[in-house]
Amino acid sequence: MIIAIDGPSASGKSTVSKLLARRLGIAHLDTGAMYRALALAADWDQLDFTDLPVLKAWLTKVELDIRLTGGKFAVLLSGRDVEPFIRNEEIGKKASQISKLGPVREYLLDMQRMAGTKGDLVADGRDMGTVVFPQAEVKFFLIASDRERAKRRWLELRHLDPSLTLEKVEKELKARDEQDAQRELSPLKPAKDAEILDTTDLSLDQVVQVMNKRIKT
Ligand code: C5P
Repeated sequence: MIIAIDGPSASGKSTVSKLLARRLGIAHLDTGAMYRALALAADWDQLDFTDLPVLKAWLTKVELDIRLTGGKFAVLLSGRDVEPFIRNEEIGKKASQISKLGPVREYLLDMQRMAGTKGDLVADGRDMGTVVFPQAEVKFFLIASDRERAKRRWLELRHLDPSLTLEKVEKELKARDEQDAQRELSPLKPAKDAEILDTTDLSLDQVVQVMNKRIKT
């Protein structure tokens, strides 16, 4: 069984997906982390990703991989887990920029689909239900108000940058969502058969409960 969970930035996808996968005892793949890791590698290599031939050549060399450890697919760059380096808005913004590019999406698509052949999976991102796993048995599209999403992201990031304001976070989130929704390839949008879930007034536990009920019916 594949459970596809999509939605805009800070809609709760990753946290909910992680918890749901744990409750169901199945694997979790955070595809946003893959785009973030690639953005980090591009940053480290000072890649000019607007130069398509350069980008394509670079993609043949970059060593990005996913490995299932403890119920979650870890994202590795040259064998190293990059989780501690990718959770900031700078990388989020870069991930959104490179995710517009065809060669980047193609590069990650096979790896993402491969994860779906290893057993039951909860996969979260922007195009899980529309492009990567259109055959998924269950699809959710999470939404929440702009202010609520900004609050969630601000709470996550403020220890890294105490000068960060809620207004700045909200502005950046909206700009990134607009970029993700307007792009030509795999734009952010719900699959036709996805259930849209507004999580604005729901706790994490309530969201997981709603999903669990739906999965079991
Ligand atoms: O979900 P997260 O904020 O970690 O994703 C970072 C960026 O990666 C998104 O803004 C989006 O541009 C891109 N992304 C994507 N397709 C996915 C997952 C993420 O384009 N399946």
